[in-house]
Amino acid sequence: MNEFEVKGRKVLHEMKPYSPGKPIWEVQQELGIEKVVKLASNENPFGASPKAVEAIAAFLPEIHRYPDAGAKLLNQVIAERLDLQPEQLIVTNGGDELITLVSETFLEAGDEIVVPSPTFSEYEFGATLMGAKTVSVPLNEDFSYNVDALLAEVTGQTKIVYLCSPNNPTGTYIGRDELQRVLDALPKRVLVLFDAAYKHYASAEDYSDGLEFVRAGYPIIVLQTFSKIYGLAGIRVGFGAASVELTNSIYKVKEPFNVNALAQTAAAAAVNDDEHVCKSQQLNAEGREQLYKGFKELGLSYTESMTNFILVELGPDAKSIYDRLMAEGIIVRYGGGWGLPGHVRVTVGTDEENELFLTKLKGIMAEG
Ligand SMILES: *Cc1c(COP(=O)(O)O)cnc(C)c1O
Repeated sequence: MNEFEVKGRKVLHEMKPYSPGKPIWEVQQELGIEKVVKLASNENPFGASPKAVEAIAAFLPEIHRYPDAGAKLLNQVIAERLDLQPEQLIVTNGGDELITLVSETFLEAGDEIVVPSPTFSEYEFGATLMGAKTVSVPLNEDFSYNVDALLAEVTGQTKIVYLCSPNNPTGTYIGRDELQRVLDALPKRVLVLFDAAYKHYASAEDYSDGLEFVRAGYPIIVLQTFSKIYGLAGIRVGFGAASVELTNSIYKVKEPFNVNALAQTAAAAAVNDDEHVCKSQQLNAEGREQLYKGFKELGLSYTESMTNFILVELGPDAKSIYDRLMAEGIIVRYGGGWGLPGHVRVTVGTDEENELFLTKLKGIMAEG
């Protein structure tokens, strides 16, 4: 007996698989080489917050206990840091889980979400899962936000408008005034999910991480993650900040023990590890300049970035250059999946990693 008629939901046919950056060990195994550099997933190349690592080690003897279902201690630490009430926070198994939870909480089949394009793929994933439709609004040619075009796509069906700022994969952001304009123009029944995963890297004067609008009572949820600057991608923790009314709704669909105890402990220590954050910000800013300079020398155009990655245009040979970089042990992200077949996205690495990447890139381009 191996015939059965169990069918998955119809939406499964429409789910597009996420394409993660290849793990280092896999490339090592495939190529049989030791030296592999991963610049594909926007991780912190300088490692995790040392305070978080210490906290995890100290907590290990307690892991036979269930985690705190409400992540209360972590909520308190974050709330204090961000000048919010703990009830305005919801901690999740990575920022990705927040996107799924928000989709499950607010989207009915037939609803629409409005997203910039290109952007992070998880917004569409959550919508498709719920049978909702994703309406993509192209960014301007220089990848800046086109607020008028975005607002023009808002219809009676629109439930959520996603703003990723700084935006993955472009590194561009929406200025405070423009954000205010979007929020004031939207009907009050439309929720804004403001994804601030890269907020610590955004140094522009007019950047807003969205929290001021949470405090002011707008229908906005701000997403943050511990996977990027805090260096905790492997342990999966992020959070949302919003009005108590919104978080209460999301809590209804959350599984009780969604965030493991080590992740809660690590995140609580990382939040106040200013030394690690400042060092990472500074080294990242230097690494960005290093890569800009290298790209200029190679005659490549790139998008100025407010993040820890850079979108660079390699032209018609981009896919083949990407493949050849991979063959030499340098993992970057190919732009094809974002409709950018001539681009790759490169995470800013350590000084040594950036140099190695530029050297290999130069060699490959010289071969033609
Ligand atoms: C990395 C990232 C997230 C969250 O990632 P998690 O590892 O799930 O916390 C959310 N949004 C964007 C745009 C990201 O790049």
